[in-house]
Amino acid sequence: MTQAIARTAAGLITPADTPAAPHFALERPLVLATDLDGTFLGGSEAERAALYRWLHAVRERQSACLTLIFVTGRDLPFVRGLVRQQVAGVPVPRPDYVIGDVGTTIAGGSDIEPLPELEREIAARWRRGAPSDEHARSALRALLANEPGLREQDTPFRHRLSYWYEPATLSSGTLAKIRAAGYDGLLSADTFLDVLPRGVSKGPTLRQLIAHLRLAPDQVLVAGDTLNDLSLFETGLRGVAVGNAEAALLSRLRARPLPRTYRSPFPGAAGILDAVCHHGFATRPTRSATEA
Ligand SMILES: [Mg+2]
Repeated sequence: MTQAIARTAAGLITPADTPAAPHFALERPLVLATDLDGTFLGGSEAERAALYRWLHAVRERQSACLTLIFVTGRDLPFVRGLVRQQVAGVPVPRPDYVIGDVGTTIAGGSDIEPLPELEREIAARWRRGAPSDEHARSALRALLANEPGLREQDTPFRHRLSYWYEPATLSSGTLAKIRAAGYDGLLSADTFLDVLPRGVSKGPTLRQLIAHLRLAPDQVLVAGDTLNDLSLFETGLRGVAVGNAEAALLSRLRARPLPRTYRSPFPGAAGILDAVCHHGFATRPTRSATEA
């Protein structure tokens, strides 16, 4: 079978070492809660196809053992488009649930629609007494209308307001204003400013979802690659920072190590499969097994 050779800072890793083989069974239930860009969608085409093929095989043979949750900054139209795609002939697996818009959306079902009963707390924190999501957004938009260095993103988000910002121009007073209004301002990649309901981000929303679904925290594996995934790792759940994780995330993890967050040498999708074995959800396949 074709296997990509993973590259790490230490050099080349031989194909026999890569965790790309799709045919190994789960030894206990797995709830895979994964970021998309750079993580589930990261790594080479062969590495992504290997992960997706493995997930399909598990669903076919051990369907009760797998729950797949996407946890992303992307919105629902992006996810609906994604699951219609294929990678090297392998369909992108459909998630059971989606935590989208940086934790401010929870969706599920065959049409990947928002689940209002699960979003009630998020919506309440967004509205802060306003009669609708839109009223809350209008008030925030007015509050930030004259702040320097901001340009609003033209996507119709529901429980967030998002801007592109100029790092050289942004005023610290802008973040203070957001905070004083009862919201959190999240900066990322020197480019994006997300105004989010207070206390809402990927990690807390995942915690809420797994409690609602009565899933055992010990079955959960979180995966990510950038700073907006830090809240996933801070849940204390088993985790993996994939091999291509950004420097800003790694320096935060170095400054305050999280013992259950594994740093995989493998990028994106290959890092996820590596972590499935590292955390004991499956046994790493031997070379003869990978060539079977
Ligand atoms: Mg990412």
